[in-house]
Amino acid sequence: MERTFAILKPDAVERNFSGKILERIESQGFKIVAMKRTLLSKAQAEGFYDVHKERPFFPSMTSTMSSGPVVLLVLEKENAIADWRKLMGATNPADAEAGTIRKDFAENIERNSVHGSDATETAAFEMSYFFSQTEIH
Ligand code: GDP
Repeated sequence: MERTFAILKPDAVERNFSGKILERIESQGFKIVAMKRTLLSKAQAEGFYDVHKERPFFPSMTSTMSSGPVVLLVLEKENAIADWRKLMGATNPADAEAGTIRKDFAENIERNSVHGSDATETAAFEMSYFFSQTEIH
């Protein structure tokens, strides 16, 4: 079993798509082993996306991530990291495959509805950024 970290971003929560996206997650065999609905501060979003701090879109993207409530998740499944990235679809919804969450829900490359860890190390960092061990069951 593998764990990955996911976010339902403000654009998705704002448009009432949390339930629809969670339904896709569960129906694809992921177990939701931690879940929290919260509002990120700009500083929390900046810390989370620290690897992107030199990118031109960093100020705008971290403002967007702290613009409204999000749902933070830890998902468990065999091959969870790669399978969740596949279900999410490409970063830019214009490039996302049919049937992916970003294709069906995302507004644009920045307001792209969901986040997913891209590797084992980032998944470990991202889970521990928001959840303590006692919150994951
Ligand atoms: P992801 O792993 O597919 O989420 O993509 P990245 O790690 O490359 O980027 C992190 C997040 O930054 C993306 O999910 C988008 O919300 C945002 N982002 C990425 N590329 C761009 C861009 O070119 N312009 C803007 N405005 N936002 C971007």
